[in-house]
Amino acid sequence: MTVSRQTFDQVMIPCYVPQNMVLERGEGCYLYDTEGKRYVDLSAGIAVNCLGHNHPEVVKTISAQAQRLIHVSNIFVNDKTLTLAQELTSLTGFDKVFFTNSGAEANEAALKLARRVAYDNFGAEKDEIISFSHSFHGRTLFSVSVGGQAKYSTGFGPTPSGITHLPFNDCAALERTISDKTCAVILEPIQGEGGILPVDPEFLVQVRALCDKFHALLIFDEVQTGVGRTGSFYAFEQFKDLNGGKGVRPDILSSAKGLAAGIPIGAILTTDEIAAHFKPGTHGSTFGGNPLACAVGSVVLHTVSAPDFLTHVSAMGQLIRDQLTALNDKYHCFKELRGKGLLIGAELSEPFHDQSGKLQQLCTEHGLLVLVAGPNVLRLTPPLIITASVVTEAMTLLDQALQAFTAQ
Ligand SMILES: *Cc1c(COP(=O)(O)O)cnc(C)c1O
Repeated sequence: MTVSRQTFDQVMIPCYVPQNMVLERGEGCYLYDTEGKRYVDLSAGIAVNCLGHNHPEVVKTISAQAQRLIHVSNIFVNDKTLTLAQELTSLTGFDKVFFTNSGAEANEAALKLARRVAYDNFGAEKDEIISFSHSFHGRTLFSVSVGGQAKYSTGFGPTPSGITHLPFNDCAALERTISDKTCAVILEPIQGEGGILPVDPEFLVQVRALCDKFHALLIFDEVQTGVGRTGSFYAFEQFKDLNGGKGVRPDILSSAKGLAAGIPIGAILTTDEIAAHFKPGTHGSTFGGNPLACAVGSVVLHTVSAPDFLTHVSAMGQLIRDQLTALNDKYHCFKELRGKGLLIGAELSEPFHDQSGKLQQLCTEHGLLVLVAGPNVLRLTPPLIITASVVTEAMTLLDQALQAFTAQ
């Protein structure tokens, strides 16, 4: 049977409107469709393919591990899962890991754990979860209800209760709302899906202080900001000078997306004290932390955590920002450039509002794959291995797409 883009409309549940081609293979920062057309990929599977497509060491690791062991479930342990757990804890200073298959499941685990800690220590009344507008935490019913974009949870009620949404970076609103009933505050260091909106450092310091005061756990959703994306392995490492040099650390950190370079994986990291509230039988996952995903996770961790690699991420991020600034001088299409490292958002200026989808489509037609974050923001999350010459090639294609976009 042959397939085409129309096959999607025929046999796939229409949760997406994919671009008008069928992808077939990839190499480094390039993807190729079934017609042989080449694309420069600045989407990286939504911040997932951190080592690009078909990275030789990833391919080698997957084939070697497939020949050894793919899956055994969590009622047994295996060498690869334990190794990645050890590496993640020693890299981050957390004590314990729980592995999942996705970001939503990692947040589900983080939120359940926070509720359980409060329940064990203070009783069932302490159940309130505070999250922020424009946040995104995944698509399970709990994580989507905690997320701060009503459009994603509308029509799926009754949604879980005990969730309060506040404006992001609003100290006064948090101070008014947080109480002894609050069990957790969850936030993204840079809101990704919501539009590449960074947390305000002063707000972050206050969130930490208020969480401590009211015995609420602070959860960082680093599903998109993690694994080198912002120039450090996790974004929270860049908060180490805040709070008079004490830094701001979360109690629970969730990770996924790039953690196994495209093989599904997620994880939460936390302290011994908090982890002790998940006892045998309280939570679980059949596939979570399988040896195949964890073997690749170790390759990613070694590669991405190297100081030179992270410096490269920051340098490429700066190069893209510089070239976007130059393009903006030409087309005046962006109101603001945001983000850090290779998590980049360009908010469209007023005359181009609601047209990020149109720009994305024009980019695709010109051989450039980009993301959007809502109707007004162009989002770039390239492979972390991108080079200066690929950046220049991509920006030449973006130049052509913007020319068509602004001429319309
Ligand atoms: C992508 C994302 C999620 C959801 O991850 P899935 O793997 O799609 O479940 C959660 N939080 C953030 C910040 C994300 O970017």
